[in-house]
Amino acid sequence: MIPSVLPTYSRAPLTFVKGEGAWLIEADGRRFLDFGAGIAVNALGHAHPALVEALTRQARELWHTSNLYRIPQQQALADQLVAATFADTVFFTNSGTESCELAVKMARKYWHDKGQPARTDIVTFAGSFHGRSSAGIAAAGSEKMTKGFGPLLPGFIHLPWGDHAALQAAITDTVGAILIEPVQGEGGIRPLPDQCLKGLRDLCDEHGILLILDEVQCGMGRTGKLFAHEWAGIAPDIMMVAKGIGGGFPLGAVLATEQAAAGMTAGTHGSTYGGNPLACAVGSAVMDIVATPDFLAEVNRKAGLLRQGLEGLVASHPSVFEAVRGSGLMLGLKCRATNTDVVSAGYDALIVTVPAADNVIRLLPPLTLGDAEITEALRRLDAAAQAVSSA
Ligand SMILES: *Cc1c(COP(=O)(O)O)cnc(C)c1O
Repeated sequence: MIPSVLPTYSRAPLTFVKGEGAWLIEADGRRFLDFGAGIAVNALGHAHPALVEALTRQARELWHTSNLYRIPQQQALADQLVAATFADTVFFTNSGTESCELAVKMARKYWHDKGQPARTDIVTFAGSFHGRSSAGIAAAGSEKMTKGFGPLLPGFIHLPWGDHAALQAAITDTVGAILIEPVQGEGGIRPLPDQCLKGLRDLCDEHGILLILDEVQCGMGRTGKLFAHEWAGIAPDIMMVAKGIGGGFPLGAVLATEQAAAGMTAGTHGSTYGGNPLACAVGSAVMDIVATPDFLAEVNRKAGLLRQGLEGLVASHPSVFEAVRGSGLMLGLKCRATNTDVVSAGYDALIVTVPAADNVIRLLPPLTLGDAEITEALRRLDAAAQAVSSA
């Protein structure tokens, strides 16, 4: 008999009932260190007082009105995002997938309105992940995500990772945009080198096409800048955001320049929930904390500590781990052992990590974690590695 919840997830046998900062408490009382943060969502950890306060205060006033009316919380969050980034304008969604949908529509509408409606193609890269909608799976293009779901949305050109010649050859007069994650998340924590991101920006400028960045996982302070592309000193035309921006409340956004967004006039797009007062009240509270130089400096300091410890861990368990990679507090351990075995051994050692493609385990702790929690996490990862190597 089919379970009452559609069985599309393979779930770990864990039931968390409470969260406190970087800690998750299981129904049986065990305390796990949370180095998954709900896949880079709980940027400020669990039950952060400022977020609880923002949510409950708004919950007592007004939950939802729809975008038929002005929403001051939405306006405030848009102003914060515009002030802190390259963007001139913001549309709010409820997820990364919906942000992908709008990014694709915005790029196509841009060229339509410019009188070049044939420029519908968007170049994407192997190992990418842009969500599970029809556009999202077509954009990523992997067999794993698309098999059985055809016909796929046309208009995506899939390129291998790091093949510069293929990239040059792919930019024809049907291409309107390039879409890429500055640090691949699901693909196995693969950072795009800064000079490659700069090269993509130059290529887009040369051909007058749009650069769309998917910062759903790597954005919102995760890499130690508010957005990962800032490390390369470039700006996109359109950017997808979600995950960390709501700190656990469902919220996403598409940020864009005035020029890239020019086609998105009244009536061209919408969302019932997107940018509702509850979500935006929380999003504002997240931005108040994350988008400050002191907070980001701390993320970088702690990332340095964690990375140094992980290098030591890899050195002492060469049969389990091959290398550390990633950026800021978006780190991956490339495994020699099977990554899911390491994640399971982590559960036994009371630390939560997340598997990714390319036999990697992801370490995505709350950005608020403390130094003592880093030390404890390294101890628990060491215990997990010992269990795997002696199994
Ligand atoms: C998670 C993710 C998405 C999809 O976001 P959802 O909120 O799950 O719809 C898209 N792009 C990237 C890079 C992601 O990590």
